[in-house]
Amino acid sequence: MIKLSNLILEEKGFKLPSLPYAYDALEPHIDKETMREHHTKHHKGYVTKLNDAMKGKAKSIEEILSNIKKYDDKVRNNAGGVYNHTLYFNLLSSEATTSPVGQLKEDIDKTFGSYQKFKEEFSNAGTGQFGSGWAWLSLTKDGLKVHSTPNQDNPLMSYSDIKGDPIIGMDVWEHAYYLKHKSKRASYIKDFFKVLCWKTAEENYQKIINKDNEDN
Ligand code: MN
Repeated sequence: MIKLSNLILEEKGFKLPSLPYAYDALEPHIDKETMREHHTKHHKGYVTKLNDAMKGKAKSIEEILSNIKKYDDKVRNNAGGVYNHTLYFNLLSSEATTSPVGQLKEDIDKTFGSYQKFKEEFSNAGTGQFGSGWAWLSLTKDGLKVHSTPNQDNPLMSYSDIKGDPIIGMDVWEHAYYLKHKSKRASYIKDFFKVLCWKTAEENYQKIINKDNEDN
C-alpha cells in the first residue's frame, strides 16, 4: 500500500491533503470550479466524517483500510473517500506525461498488449461502473488488472472482488465531472487521460513493487 505523504495524521485526526497544483491547473480538461468543489467540499467532507467516525481515536489510513471489516459503513465510506481522492488528485497534473513510462509501460504492454488496449479497457471499466464508483489499475497477485469498485470502496479493502494495490484510480462519481461534462462520463474519461501523470503512476508502481514506505 502506497503511503500518501500529503495525507497527514495528527493527534485529533487527518488533515485535508493539499493539492499539488492550483484549482485551475487542469483547465480546459477539468475545470476550476469542479476541482474547487471536489477538493474543498467532497474530499474535505470525507476527511471530516472519517475523523468524526473515528471519534478522535486517530489510526493510520493503512491500518483502517487493512482491517476495514472491523469498522462500520461510515468508516468504510469515508476512509475510502479520503484515500481514493488523495491518490487521484496526486495523479493529475498540468504537466502530465501523456503515455506510460518506465517499468509500468513495459508491464502494461506485456499485460494488455499496448497502451491503446489498456486505455480502452480502463475507459470501459469507468463507463461500465453502474452509478458512483472508481476505475482502477491495480497490482494483484496475478499481475496488473483493470477493474472497478462501487461507492468509495477500493482494492485495498477486503470487500473488493479484486484485491491488490491501486496504482491509478479514476473517480467516476458525477461530482467529478458533471459541472463541465454533464452526463457525458466518456468525455470526462477522455479528458482524465489528458491530465493523468504517468510519471507519478510509475512512482506509485515502483513503491508498490519495492514495498517502499511500508511499516512491515
Ligand atoms: Mn470524488
